[in-house]
Amino acid sequence: MEEIRVGSAVSTAAGVSTGELRTGDMPDGAPITIPVVILRGETDGPTLWLNGCVHGDELCGTYIIHEVLRTVAPGDLTGTIVAMPLLNVTASQKVQRMSPFELFGNGDLNRCFPGDPGGLTTQQMAHHIYGPLKQYADFLIDFHTALTIDVRWALYADAPGEVGRKAAGIAKAFGYKSTLPAPIDILGGSAMMTAARDGIPSFIVEAGGMGAAFDRAVVEDAAERLRNVMRHLGMLQGAVTDYGAQYGFSNFAWVNSTRGGLFENYVKCGDRLEVGTKLGRYFDVFGDVVEEPESPCAGIVLAINNGPVMPTGVVLVHIGLDPQNV
Ligand SMILES: [Zn+2]
Repeated sequence: MEEIRVGSAVSTAAGVSTGELRTGDMPDGAPITIPVVILRGETDGPTLWLNGCVHGDELCGTYIIHEVLRTVAPGDLTGTIVAMPLLNVTASQKVQRMSPFELFGNGDLNRCFPGDPGGLTTQQMAHHIYGPLKQYADFLIDFHTALTIDVRWALYADAPGEVGRKAAGIAKAFGYKSTLPAPIDILGGSAMMTAARDGIPSFIVEAGGMGAAFDRAVVEDAAERLRNVMRHLGMLQGAVTDYGAQYGFSNFAWVNSTRGGLFENYVKCGDRLEVGTKLGRYFDVFGDVVEEPESPCAGIVLAINNGPVMPTGVVLVHIGLDPQNV
């Protein structure tokens, strides 16, 4: 078998190889390293690359990837999984979105790909990750979370031709009802769009909420859907589950809060919104209701802020636009 080398993880035969990829240094000179797992089947096949915790407070994907690594035996696998379950390691140590060492720019790792070896902290990190990803990945799945535990939606890079078609096949096999064929010109600097432009079919899962806002049911359901993708790709044996019809969206809209205060929401993930649907209510610090914000567009709730306190300028609601049953 051909060697696969990602940092100190080296795979030349069926089985599990672990190691670390150095992406920079701490202020005391200690290396910043990302854990790498290479799970190699006995038969050659595609290489599926899995990213978790690109944002350091989005830990559910780490658990989903670990669950799949625990439940897929090399003897059952055709091809290879390369997993980086805890990508943004310094951010995850603080359970925050971005690295605490990112002092300039905004340091969003999912806006920094393909990275820059002489760039800011997070751009250098992206550079070290993207090199092996581009070299080895045939498919990319990137796990994120949004605001609350009931978040279940996905998006794929709707690139022209075969790259987009293969990504759509992955999205169908994963089977979340709310799935966006994302226009290739949005989310610049994301691993998904960068890889798609390099010819790698790419898919993002948004499962569960921030920090601790997820549970074993979310993890096991998403892990089974990921194994279903692997059956679809011919990496595992068995029939592919059909999870049923999916909404197709034209795009999504982020609606930010323009008022601070205590907030209770009225809607849940998956609910249908019309223009003017009331989204929740703000109280002031004396307990009086001061506003019931309304949806500015029609669509499906992908994520909704559940407060309980909120400043101005954070995501109030994330809406999938123009839902079509397909
Ligand atoms: Zn994220």
